[in-house]
Amino acid sequence: MNAELRYEGVPGSELHRIRCNGHDDFGNAVVSRTSEGGEPLRCCLTIAGAGEEIALVAHRPMTAGGPYAEVGPVFMHVTGCAEPADDFLVDFPVDFRNRRVVLRPYDAAGQMLDGVVAESGTSEKELGRLFEDPVVDTVQVRNMLAGCWNFTVRRQG
Ligand SMILES: [Zn+2]
Repeated sequence: MNAELRYEGVPGSELHRIRCNGHDDFGNAVVSRTSEGGEPLRCCLTIAGAGEEIALVAHRPMTAGGPYAEVGPVFMHVTGCAEPADDFLVDFPVDFRNRRVVLRPYDAAGQMLDGVVAESGTSEKELGRLFEDPVVDTVQVRNMLAGCWNFTVRRQG
């Protein structure tokens, strides 16, 4: 049986703070740019079309802290999202289905476990397999080459 999973981008409270402050939590100014199309947006977990107002800011996806709590670059909508996302989705983000990604699991203490490469179209199946291991607390979906964080997956409830 597949675990019930939830898919978390940048939390709404953090997006609100960044938009209000004009800088991210690490002091980087929000510099608006026009999307070329194809940028993965971590606010609403969609892929940008051409001509959207986006910015590249820094985000730390692991709230627990610790040595694996990396800070990295994420694209977000500058002023708001077409469909304001809740803090998580209960279905795998459609736009991210056919990306070749790294799935990086962590235990509840934030220690990194053995990750896998998910080929295009296999992320959901591979996530289901990783979460069969009860030690796996979260899995970070990351870009194949740059390693940038896309979103975090955890069990619901
Ligand atoms: Zn958005």
